[in-house]
Amino acid sequence: MKIYLNGKLVDKAEAKVSVFDHGLLYGDGVFEGIRSYNCLIFRLKDHIDRLYRSAHAILLDMPLPKEKLVGAIVKTLKANKLKEAYIRVVVTRGEGDLGLDPRRCRQATLFIITDSIALYPAELYKKGLDIVTVPTRRNINEALSPQIKSLNYLNNIMAKIEAINFKVEEALMLTNEGYLCECTGDNIFLVKESMLLTPATSMGILAGITREVVLGIARKRNILVSEDMLTRYDLFNANEVFLTGTAAEIIPVVKIDGRVIGNGKPGNITLSLTEEFRRATRIDGYRYSL
Ligand code: PMP
Repeated sequence: MKIYLNGKLVDKAEAKVSVFDHGLLYGDGVFEGIRSYNCLIFRLKDHIDRLYRSAHAILLDMPLPKEKLVGAIVKTLKANKLKEAYIRVVVTRGEGDLGLDPRRCRQATLFIITDSIALYPAELYKKGLDIVTVPTRRNINEALSPQIKSLNYLNNIMAKIEAINFKVEEALMLTNEGYLCECTGDNIFLVKESMLLTPATSMGILAGITREVVLGIARKRNILVSEDMLTRYDLFNANEVFLTGTAAEIIPVVKIDGRVIGNGKPGNITLSLTEEFRRATRIDGYRYSL
């Protein structure tokens, strides 16, 4: 496996960063998770734009302009001969000293990992997930904007551990006030009487790119959509629930905090949105050749 590291393609064993890198010492950096399907990188521009917005928000100078970063991603995919891939782009503040001061970090570290991944086993897409709401709250907007896809995922990891302790697949984090927020790496949607509901970005979620695609598909189909302030009561009484994310795509949820959702099976709207989403991933995207 070849990894892109600061301008070079290196073997996995040589892909190493300094213990003084502030990405490691402080989680000072940003990242993106992108996917390619049959040599098409899905929503590449949206991911690149979000990465640069995250970097801008933390005053991190990107080491490459956007076009060059796209070139580096394609180069890495080609080097690994990957038609279908999960692409992780990580930019850290770079190597510094033991202080927090980012001015000590002269050069950002950039690496790109391309790999094949399947987040959940295929049977769970048919059966649906069992999830729980957890005590760990999502970061509050006022402390650290959840729009910044930063290397600080500790609250999400704590939530994931809580889900594991409950022996379920995923955790839903609430806002500090107890409204629905998002899962550890996915956004959440509810279907209620043929209306599609999802927490508004102002609730402190990451504005997921898959979420945007799903909202777009729904609007095109004249499904009523509401980005809202939602409660656990709304969730328990939804007809259908599903999660969205680059890695998971669209995955149905059939049980939450022990309550069966709808008839306990993935719902029709969820399944038809999934079908359309999968079709989009085969048509849309930034084409590359191996
Ligand atoms: N929320 C969080 C916290 C995430 O990490 C992710 C995955 N990047 C998402 C939502 C889903 O976003 P996207 O659809 O852009 O992958």
